[in-house]
Amino acid sequence: MRKSVVAIVGRPNVGKSTIFNRLAGERISIVEDTPGVTRDRIYTEAEWLNQPFNIIDTGGIEIGDAPFLVEIREQAELAIAEADVIIFMVNGREGITGADEEVAKILFRSNKPVVLAVNKVDNPQMRDQIYEFYSLGFGEPFPISGTHGLGLGDLLDATVQHFPERAEMQEDEETIHFSLIGRPNVGKSSLVNALLNQERVIVSDVAGTTRDAVDSTFTREGQDFVIIDTAGMRKRGKVYETTEKYSILRALKAIERSDVVLVLINAEEGIIEQDKKIAGYAHDAGKAIVIVVNKWDTVESDEKKMKEFEDEIRAHFLYLDYAPIVFLSAKTKKRIHTLMPAILTASENHAKRIQTNVLNDVIMDALAMNPAPTYKGQRLKVLYATQVAVKPPAFAVFVNDPELMHFSYVRFLENRIREAFGFTGTPIKIFPRRRS
Ligand code: GDP
Ligand code: GDP
Repeated sequence: MRKSVVAIVGRPNVGKSTIFNRLAGERISIVEDTPGVTRDRIYTEAEWLNQPFNIIDTGGIEIGDAPFLVEIREQAELAIAEADVIIFMVNGREGITGADEEVAKILFRSNKPVVLAVNKVDNPQMRDQIYEFYSLGFGEPFPISGTHGLGLGDLLDATVQHFPERAEMQEDEETIHFSLIGRPNVGKSSLVNALLNQERVIVSDVAGTTRDAVDSTFTREGQDFVIIDTAGMRKRGKVYETTEKYSILRALKAIERSDVVLVLINAEEGIIEQDKKIAGYAHDAGKAIVIVVNKWDTVESDEKKMKEFEDEIRAHFLYLDYAPIVFLSAKTKKRIHTLMPAILTASENHAKRIQTNVLNDVIMDALAMNPAPTYKGQRLKVLYATQVAVKPPAFAVFVNDPELMHFSYVRFLENRIREAFGFTGTPIKIFPRRRS
C-alpha cells in the first residue's frame, strides 16, 4: 500500500518548517545534510486518524542561487508533482502578498487538492483577520498557530479527506516492486534498460492512475515485477530536479513503495560515504536489499578480486550482513543473469511466514544451547515466540521482563532464526514482550 503524500508550500517565513516539525512523528531523519541547520529534514512520516502519510517541506529544497520568485515557483511545481494533497501556507499577520498570489496561481492551474492554512493566528481574537484569505480561491482558510500548536486538528481533518481512496492506493500484493538506488552515474538507468531488454522478460505498458507514469512493468517466468523510478533515471528538466535534496527525496519515495531495494555500487570507484547513507535509508525502512556492484567489466575480475570487494563491502556495511551481493555489468550484460534470482529470493524471504511451533522448536534449542544470562541479578525467562508481521518478518518474543533482554541476546536469537530459516536478503525484527 502506497502512503499518501502531503506537501507544504508557501513563501519563506510563513512557518512551514515549524509546522512540518510539529507534524513529524517519531520516525527520525531522513534528509540530513548539515546537522544543526533547521532544514536538515524535508521528508518524514506523520499520522492522523490512524492514517500514516508522508510530508514534504518544500521550503527545504533550496535552488542554488535562483531568484526568490523562481525558487518559490519551483517549490510549488515540486509539490504538484510529488504530493496527493497540498497545504498552502500563508501568514495571518501579514495578509496576502504578491508572492502568495504567485504561488496561488500555480497551484490553481494544477488539479491537486489544496488546503489553505493561515499560520501565526496565535489567539482567538486574530481569527477575524483570516477572511481576506478567501480571495485566494481555495475555499475556507484554516487558522493555525505553529508556535502554540493550535488549529492543527481541523487542518489535518481537511487534509486527510482529500487522500485518494484506499483502492487507488493499493498496489498488487503478488507483484514484486523494486527500485534501484545509488549516486548519479552508478548505472541505474543502464541497468533498468538492460533488465527490460532481456529476452525472457515481457515488458508491459500499463497505464493507470495509481502508478507513477515512469514505473516500468514486466513479467518474467510468470511473475510480475514493477521497477519504481528513482531520481536520476529520468531527466525531465525542471530546475528543482537537479538539487541533491530532491534526488534523495525521490529515492526515499521509491524505497517506500518497494519490496526490494537494489543498492548500486560502482566497481570502478569503490564505496563512498554517500553509498552508505543511501543504503541506510533502505535498511531503516525495513526493505529487502540486494547489493549490486555494477561496472564489473572495468575490473579485472577473478574470484580473488570478487572476494576482496565483498570483504570491503561487508566491512563498510556491517548492518547489511543479510544482503546478498551481485557483481555484474549493465553495459556488457556480463553476469546480469545473477540479478533476478537474487531479487526473487530476497522478496520471498521478506514475505516469509514461519509457523509458531516450528519457530519455537528453534528458539527452545537455542535456549538450551545458550541459556539466557542473568542481568542485574535476575534471570531472563523466555516463554515462547511468534511471528507477528511480514515485510519485513517480525517476531515477538515473550519473556518475564523485557528489561532483562540484553541486545546481545536479541542478536543471538536473530542469528539462530537466520541459521534455521535462511532469511537472506531481508532484515528481521525481534521485539521482546512481557508475559508473566
Ligand atoms: P518557513 O520559512 O516557512 O519554514 O518558516 P519557519 O517555520 O522557519 O518560521 C519562520 C518564523 O516564524 C520563525 O521565527 C518561527 O518561529 C515563526 N513562527 C512559526 N509559526 C509561528 C506561529 O504560529 N506564530 C508566530 N507568532 N510565529 C511563528
Ligand atoms: P545513472 O545516473 O545511475 O542512471 O547512471 P547511467 O545509467 O546513466 O550510467 C552512467 C554512465 O555509466 C554511462 O556513461 C553508462 O554508459 C556507464 N555505465 C553504466 N553501466 C556500466 C557498466 O556496467 N560498465 C561500464 N563500463 N559503464 C557503465
